[in-house]
Amino acid sequence: MEEAIAKLQQAVNESTYIVFFGGAGVSTESGIPDFRSQDGLYSQKYKYPPETIVSHSFFMQRTDEFYDFYRDKMIFADAQPNAAHKKLAEMEQAGKLKAVVTQNIDGLHQKAGSKEVLELHGSTLRNYCMDCGKRYDGLDIITKTQGIPKCEACGGTIRPDVVLYEEGLDNSVIRRAVEHISKADMLIIGGTSLVVYPAAGFIDYFRGKHLVVINMSETSRDSMAEIVIKGKIGEVLGQIHVEA
Ligand code: NAD
Ligand code: ZN
Repeated sequence: MEEAIAKLQQAVNESTYIVFFGGAGVSTESGIPDFRSQDGLYSQKYKYPPETIVSHSFFMQRTDEFYDFYRDKMIFADAQPNAAHKKLAEMEQAGKLKAVVTQNIDGLHQKAGSKEVLELHGSTLRNYCMDCGKRYDGLDIITKTQGIPKCEACGGTIRPDVVLYEEGLDNSVIRRAVEHISKADMLIIGGTSLVVYPAAGFIDYFRGKHLVVINMSETSRDSMAEIVIKGKIGEVLGQIHVEA
């Protein structure tokens, strides 16, 4: 592991266009469970698997049950950025990292200070009325209400601006993410099982020099990567020094 971290440090030092591609594993050290780890949501028992509950059809048909699960398991109002979020923000500040492409919906990269964050699956911090479009920023409309949150202007149902299963991704977010990945000289993939598509497919646009995977469990891209580190991403990135 030490040897791999030294290699990672070396690659960071010589790169000028680093892009990070991450998922739920980036936020587990902030206390937010992922889906597919041992203590992730998939190994807890619900009436339906999370993938079913967090789908468009489930949301439309059983909106109240969706919100029970969503409030209970996907909203963490007190979560704080961990060492991984902070280091990535620091790398951007130093001009080395150009974008964070994330599947997460928790807003923790921005909270850590990152500016160019491409949220492939949207954000729990944005909500809108499905009838009149009125926007509700922040978590209050979810955490300070019960049952199905309703629009104060028109009484319509409010939904989170997150991409549910069966829904498409935002085209402009995809375009920017792919543009950054295709320009990068270093791509760090971390905290993602790489099984959710189309998001996982965007890393195929990488043409740069250093491909790095930092993940607790094996991924489909380990064999292609120059550096593979099996460990906690906060602990690993926390050890990297950033010079401008
Ligand atoms: P996933 O749950 O499928 O995979 C997480 C991966 O991260 C696993 O391979 C696990 O081994 C690894 N991991 C866990 N903790 C880690 C750590 N500290 N360091 C390094 N690796 C760690 O997550 P996914 O690939 O992002 O796909 C799940 C989908 O669910 C995403 O689309 C995402 O939108 C959503 N989701 C988001 C959040 C969030 O916003 N924090 C949380 C749960 C699920
Ligand atoms: Zn409304």
